[in-house]
Amino acid sequence: MQQRVGFIGLGNMGGPMAANLVAAGFAVSVFDLSEEACKALAEQGATVADSAKAAADSADFLISMLPAGKHVAGLYQGDDGLLSLLGSSTTVLDCSTIDAQTARSVGEAAAERGIGFLDAPVSGGVAAAQAGTLAFMCGGDAKVFETAQPVLDVMGRASFHAGPAGAGQVAKACNNMLLAVHMLGTCEALAMGEKHGLDPERLSEIMLASSGRNWSLEVYNPWPEVMEGSPASNNYQPGFMVDLMAKDLGLAMEVAEAAGVDNRMGQLAQSLYSEHQDAGNGTRDFSSVLERYRR
Ligand code: NAD
Repeated sequence: MQQRVGFIGLGNMGGPMAANLVAAGFAVSVFDLSEEACKALAEQGATVADSAKAAADSADFLISMLPAGKHVAGLYQGDDGLLSLLGSSTTVLDCSTIDAQTARSVGEAAAERGIGFLDAPVSGGVAAAQAGTLAFMCGGDAKVFETAQPVLDVMGRASFHAGPAGAGQVAKACNNMLLAVHMLGTCEALAMGEKHGLDPERLSEIMLASSGRNWSLEVYNPWPEVMEGSPASNNYQPGFMVDLMAKDLGLAMEVAEAAGVDNRMGQLAQSLYSEHQDAGNGTRDFSSVLERYRR
């Protein structure tokens, strides 16, 4: 029998994720506050529901992809929240990037009601959402993670069970803090070499064959024209926006603080990205932070 998916939040990421589920043969019922976003999905074969509640009705899987923790808490918790309506036959995945504390609280409240719930944030941007090649990092019960595989497999190329409720958001915060740090380090090293007359392309080759090798250098080189197809070679069109990196670093600071971890590298990255954002670069790709070093 055709399985039913409710999908709430059809923005830059949720839209293509829901479209991939339609294309894979699921009966997808969608809801977004934006009529335009709903219309786009209707054109791809989804059924538009007139509320989140209606989209969730008798769904085998319910997926949400919303901006922040307050939207997720508002959707699931409270007297009118979806947790009070869902039954144990629905497996819920919140794929939004939100604070770990809210994810833990919603996940635990769901578990108390016998509802299978995962915090399942993603790595990979809009292009990966379109291609169905996202990486999912999931927090929640291991059995629920297994149950969710059919939808995770359609939307992504890799999915990981990170641990209990909230662990997916912690993993995402760790990853993106590290991403910010190695992007900044890569920009600094390339700019330093270039100021001494080295060719950034040759320096990149040298570091790629040496111990400085890292993802920012290898697949996302921040120097224009070093790598064909990179945001840097396309006037820093995103890609992954500075605004989103700033948001993720804010969440990472909360995760570090809650654990009392010395995260001065992360703090410095947050401060540098925040300056770059304040200078009017919020909607540009995060590798544009290279320009700070070239001035
Ligand atoms: P977006 O702003 O494009 O989309 C969010 C959608 O949610 C909007 O269409 C909005 O109308 C809808 N929405 C908000 N509140 C709602 C509610 N109560 N009910 C129904 N719909 C509601 O955002 P996005 O770029 O799709 O990002 C979604 C999440 O994914 C964020 O948490 C973001 O941090 C994360 N993320 C984004 C990227 C990226 O590259 N864009 C990459 C990885 C993770």
